[in-house]
Amino acid sequence: MSARSQRPALDRFRLAAAVLVVCIHTGPLSSVSGVWDFWLCRVLARTAVPFFLMITGYFLVRSEWKSTGRFLKKTALTYLAAVALYLPLNLYNGGYGLLEWIQKILAEGTLYHLWYFPAVILGVFIAWGLSKLGQPVVLIIAALLYLIGLGGDSYYGLISSLPGPAAFYQAVFAVFGYTRNGVFLAPLFLLLGGLGRWWSKSASLAGFGASIALMTAEGFLLRSLGWQRHDSMYLALPLCMLFLFSLLLGQNAGEDKRARRVSLLIYLLHPWSIVLVRGGAKVVRLEALLVENSVVHFFAVLALTLGMALVLDAVRPIRPSPTSRAWKEIDLDALRHNAETLQSRLSPGCELMAVVKADGYGHGAAAVARSLQKSGVNAFAVATMSEGISLRKAGVRGTILVLGYTPAEGIPLLRRWRLVQTVADEAHGRALDAAGRLLRVHIAVDTGMHRLGAPAEDIDALSRLWALKNLKIEGMFSHLCVSDRLDREALDYTHAQLDRFYGTADTLRKRGLAPGKLHIQASYGILNLPAQPCAYARAGIALYGVGSESAAVALEAGLRPVLSLRANVACVRELSPGEGAGYGLTFRANRHTRLAVLSIGYADGLPRELAQNGGRVLLHGQSCPMVGRMCMDQLFVDVTDVSSVRPSDTATLIGRNGELTIRAEEVSRRCGTITNELLSRLGPRLGQAAR
Ligand SMILES: *Cc1c(COP(=O)(O)O)cnc(C)c1O
Repeated sequence: MSARSQRPALDRFRLAAAVLVVCIHTGPLSSVSGVWDFWLCRVLARTAVPFFLMITGYFLVRSEWKSTGRFLKKTALTYLAAVALYLPLNLYNGGYGLLEWIQKILAEGTLYHLWYFPAVILGVFIAWGLSKLGQPVVLIIAALLYLIGLGGDSYYGLISSLPGPAAFYQAVFAVFGYTRNGVFLAPLFLLLGGLGRWWSKSASLAGFGASIALMTAEGFLLRSLGWQRHDSMYLALPLCMLFLFSLLLGQNAGEDKRARRVSLLIYLLHPWSIVLVRGGAKVVRLEALLVENSVVHFFAVLALTLGMALVLDAVRPIRPSPTSRAWKEIDLDALRHNAETLQSRLSPGCELMAVVKADGYGHGAAAVARSLQKSGVNAFAVATMSEGISLRKAGVRGTILVLGYTPAEGIPLLRRWRLVQTVADEAHGRALDAAGRLLRVHIAVDTGMHRLGAPAEDIDALSRLWALKNLKIEGMFSHLCVSDRLDREALDYTHAQLDRFYGTADTLRKRGLAPGKLHIQASYGILNLPAQPCAYARAGIALYGVGSESAAVALEAGLRPVLSLRANVACVRELSPGEGAGYGLTFRANRHTRLAVLSIGYADGLPRELAQNGGRVLLHGQSCPMVGRMCMDQLFVDVTDVSSVRPSDTATLIGRNGELTIRAEEVSRRCGTITNELLSRLGPRLGQAAR
């Protein structure tokens, strides 16, 4: 999309809304006209905070509330930073007692403008909780809360003479100070924003004009009646906001992140500017101009605030965007769907153990494990101790089994991070035991793959492991080596492996030795075998929704690919017939050719031979062939037939684009490998974006 077609109306209006908030706190027209100042600050500017609430609700609802956790965390951190920023002012003003600090932080904000943060946090909790009730119930409840809020705000004079309501509002004011808070004000606007409704531009403009006129009349009437305890909430305000938001939403295209950041900074910093302008005016003896003239005062505050905001924005630490070059996109919904699908194929009592070795098969082990943990998976397997430690550091709880060999030196770390170690054979078991520290282990049993594991038939050797005092044996497992085939010979071999495994477990039990939790299926074992009498099934590749074109799967499982791989177009160039491109000039144009150069190469983990073996990418929903030799950091694509391709367009190497899809299975086949290898080799240089 070109820059010109973008009109990020919502983000740009944040700037206007932030300036309106500055108006409220400076009263730009107060020394000119009381009436106009009232209209500007107490009527018009009252649209600012509801706008911020609506845009928050709009984005949270659009993400189906999935980004709520991230939003709350970010908002809480910003709030704490703001509290710290204004600590000097608070202390200068005498500070608060401990209980008062807690009440201020949780309910009212610690300086006048900071009430917004606890309000939006509480409001989001309430709106999110209510949203489960469905419409229109949720809107009715939020509107009722708003009406109650009105009674403590602009309409207080009407209500306060009645003893019952007066007592109620006194109780509210003891906690919040005002009713324009997270309970009475925020939920309605969050939910109205969430509706995302818009009408035509002219209808929105007319509606906004009419409703702001209505609100003006309402404001002045209430002012003349002397009913207002505060003037944040009007009956006409929600109507006004629906039209204003509709007007902006109808014009909105794209986003302006800088406007977002700067508007937040204006909001956060302006009270400091007010203090600095007043202090500065005193020092240079220009109070008559800079403070008493409200118009000059407002512009001085605004200029200083804007200056500070722009400087802070310019010096902020900038992290490269994950999608600026080549990146993986992880669909956590698909991951959870796959986990549920696989779990549903297991016998009751058998748990899915998610295999997240090799950085979760290239999907990002920490993100994968954390997401699965949230949907109830409690056991994880990794190949190495370091991988297990990384998971713990990322906050993963539950069982973590190290499937590979770890020498006895690793025992202190295995214990420190509560990892369960695989015992690879009798010698390994003895070495681990000799270290003299109790260690949680699973015993690997070799039933025919001849990789790790003590031989299943050597019961005496196995029994000796149970005699080792420092091994706390919690489980026993084996691995199938031909479960991805359905021919007679392979099936016989798999069943022989299963028989050996369960036979060994039985014999051990007869000897009074508890084998603990049993597990033998990996992905193809889950897909091709009936449910097994085990405690775990270890799913790797199937969890990520891919298989391999050569593997046989008995039943279509409905698994969804989790990973997409994308890269940007760096440049597009024209070649005349006969011209060559790339190392060795192995590509020769046989017609007038447009070549797109993509910012991804074999150093990102793509197999180098893919370009020669019919590799392709999707651009603008069409398939384009790779040509020439793949470079370390770039590759060539022939886009002669897709004339719309431009630099910075996004190409899809794995995943969906429009109607077309390139599957990881296809890419692996072209390179004579399997998806496990392809995905686990995707390099650390790739960015990572959640979908
Ligand atoms: C890698 C591995 C798995 C997972 O295999 P998938 O085929 O990817 O499901 C399971 N068990 C062991 C021992 C492994 O090494």
